[in-house]
Amino acid sequence: MTRADIDIGSDLVDRLTRQLGERGVVLDPQDMAPYEASARHGSGRARGVVRPADMEQLAWVVRELIGSGAHVVPQGAATGLVGAATPTEDATQWVLSTQRLRDVLEIDPINRSATVAGGYRLSDLNREAQAHGLCFPIDLGADPTIGGMVATNTGGAAVDPLWRCAGEPAGAGSGAGSPCRAAGGRGS
Ligand SMILES: Cc1cc2nc3c(=O)[nH]c(=O)nc-3n(C[C@H](O)[C@H](O)[C@H](O)COP(=O)(O)OP(=O)(O)OC[C@H]3O[C@@H](n4cnc5c(N)ncnc54)[C@H](O)[C@@H]3O)c2cc1C
Repeated sequence: MTRADIDIGSDLVDRLTRQLGERGVVLDPQDMAPYEASARHGSGRARGVVRPADMEQLAWVVRELIGSGAHVVPQGAATGLVGAATPTEDATQWVLSTQRLRDVLEIDPINRSATVAGGYRLSDLNREAQAHGLCFPIDLGADPTIGGMVATNTGGAAVDPLWRCAGEPAGAGSGAGSPCRAAGGRGS
């Protein structure tokens, strides 16, 4: 019997599938495999994967899982280096993937700010910012989600230019020495 067999037909799975649709609930072991592995740490085993597509679904699924006593692990792009976005090995935890949370990506070039749904990747933000002659100058060798970056306070090789771009620290000069202007970030 697979983990999927165990879950299919349960009340919780029925409710999740009704609310999130087929794409929103992953139970097949083969389909779950990518959500069970992280960039650097070994993999675990998920009880299931939920993939809400907007904030309403996200709020609903968190209430539903927690209300059912389920254990939940939020996951963006799983590029974190400490295994905090992958489930444990006992198949008791649900992975809550943010990858479908991609309903808002707006750049305000005047205020140099961006409003970005948590499931967009760093590369998505930079592609959109580029159309305004801007970039988000955190540079690292992975392509994490924006939600994951906020959750882990991600730095990177270009953090110092970010501070200069954002006009801090005072006296460094806005944008001095940086390859581009910042679209958002600390201090903007
Ligand atoms: C090659 C490589 C280079 C890297 N370089 C750097 C670097 O220079 N600087 C640096 O700081 N990091 C670096 N990292 C680490 C990693 O990229 C960052 O921590 C990244 O921002 C994590 O984002 P993610 O979307 O992959 O999050 P995940 O790995 O999926 O999750 C990380 C943590 O955040 C939680 N989480 C994820 N999304 C959300 C959300 N929307 N809401 C609430 N919690 C959430 C997860 O539960 C987990 O605890 C590197 C990683 C790799 C593989």
